Amino acid sequence: MADVIALVFDFDDTLLPDSTTLLLESKGIDTERFWKVDAKALWKQGFDPTLAYMNLILENTGEGKPLGLLTIDDLRAFGASLDDQFFPGVRNLASDLRELVADVARDISVELYIVSGGLQDVIDGNQFVRDTFHATYGCMFGADETGKLTRIKRTITFTEKTRYLFEIHKGITPAETAANQYVVNKYFPESARRVPFKNIIYVGDGLTDIPCFSLVQKNGGTAFGIFKPANAASAKRAFLEFAKTDRVTSMHSPKFAYDEDLGSLLRAAVTTIASQIMIARKQAEYR
Ligand SMILES: [Mg+2]
Repeated sequence: MADVIALVFDFDDTLLPDSTTLLLESKGIDTERFWKVDAKALWKQGFDPTLAYMNLILENTGEGKPLGLLTIDDLRAFGASLDDQFFPGVRNLASDLRELVADVARDISVELYIVSGGLQDVIDGNQFVRDTFHATYGCMFGADETGKLTRIKRTITFTEKTRYLFEIHKGITPAETAANQYVVNKYFPESARRVPFKNIIYVGDGLTDIPCFSLVQKNGGTAFGIFKPANAASAKRAFLEFAKTDRVTSMHSPKFAYDEDLGSLLRAAVTTIASQIMIARKQAEYR
């Protein structure tokens, strides 16, 4: 099997500000009320947070409702408008990493993925995302024959995120999963798993990323956490939940350029993994 290094990113507040909030704002929704009053009221009734926000979007969709006749095409068009929102350095990251790895070995591929609790159609509506990422995983709505959102098709909650890490690890494609939702449970011997965890780097910012951080770090991979230094609550959570518990290698603000700390560490991590792959190949030759 060809060697692959996979960088798996959360989407919202990791690569750009929260895209669902931006979507709701663009439709004139009071997002403070949406998240802090309406969504919270559902959490208190025992709703899963992801199901809570998706149900609220459906409740607000329809003739005369705040979101109007919101369609899948509307979500994709909104995703297309997000170009200016990406955090600094995001757009050059993939090409930089591929160049660096090509200097070590031409036959090691670098693949980028998104695993998000945000909306898949918003994510995939963006041309840069489609051009850059090997596969994306997000929450999905089903629609009626006019395209209007009517049902919840897929939610990606916190532990569900690890399912998609396993799909990447085992080399299962989104098309294979669409054809058989249970395929992730198929047994793959270690040697048949396409991307070993030690070749996976996970980057995320939120509580929903904790199972992925733990899974990747425990299996020899690398996890970097994102936080907002200017926000005291974000810093406190970064310290208590992520740094103090060894769930991540380190915490950074979302700056991906080569001369920023996270951008620089990602480049160092990827080139280190590429060198380790070369050493393992040499050792295999002598065996
Ligand atoms: Mg996030």
